[in-house]
Amino acid sequence: MNVNQCPTPKKRAYDSRDAAHARAVVSDRKLNPYRCQCGKWHLTMRDTAAPTVQEDALELLAAMTDEQFDNCVTAELHGSATPETAAALRTPDMAPRWGAVLKRRLATMQAELALKKGVDDLATKQWRASMVRRMGFIHGRQIEVNSIMKAALHQAQTSEQQLRTRAANAAKRRLVGAHFAEYREYVTEELARRGLQFDDRTEEVEGLHDQERRARDGRPST
Ligand SMILES: [Zn+2]
Repeated sequence: MNVNQCPTPKKRAYDSRDAAHARAVVSDRKLNPYRCQCGKWHLTMRDTAAPTVQEDALELLAAMTDEQFDNCVTAELHGSATPETAAALRTPDMAPRWGAVLKRRLATMQAELALKKGVDDLATKQWRASMVRRMGFIHGRQIEVNSIMKAALHQAQTSEQQLRTRAANAAKRRLVGAHFAEYREYVTEELARRGLQFDDRTEEVEGLHDQERRARDGRPST
């Protein structure tokens, strides 16, 4: 892409930051002006500088009317959507809206098929075959939507689980730090039961030199 070519020609362009800002302040969304490589100013919902093409495609989709969004879904089904739009549809942000359009479309097609049930002339047979083929493509997209949403849910659950584990570990470290003498006593007892002695190696393994120092210095453990 030419450096001076606008990556987002569909976005409204302003001649100056002031002009863009003047538009931003009357919008009910929070919009920020940014200088584009095309030399003009655009508005973005993002807080930071110019968005990437991918994020921009996401914003464009999010701002679309239902009719415009429908047209994008059709273009994607026909393979004529831009790679950025196709990728933006496949994000957890857009997948639910995409999935809803696909579901409605499939229902419409099923209703059309039902209307012609039992009609068996050649033209109808051909039409039916083409409908079934198109429904297969839509069904494939629905499978994609489901796996995107499932992955997003899994991701959210995983990060919550990680946070919980980290919190528990931090709490254990604080507990050990606050009661180090007691902890050392317990470890010594448990080691003795197993015929071992508390020694530097044990402390090394448990990472307790640090804990002991922190406990002594009265600094909070991290
Ligand atoms: Zn531009």
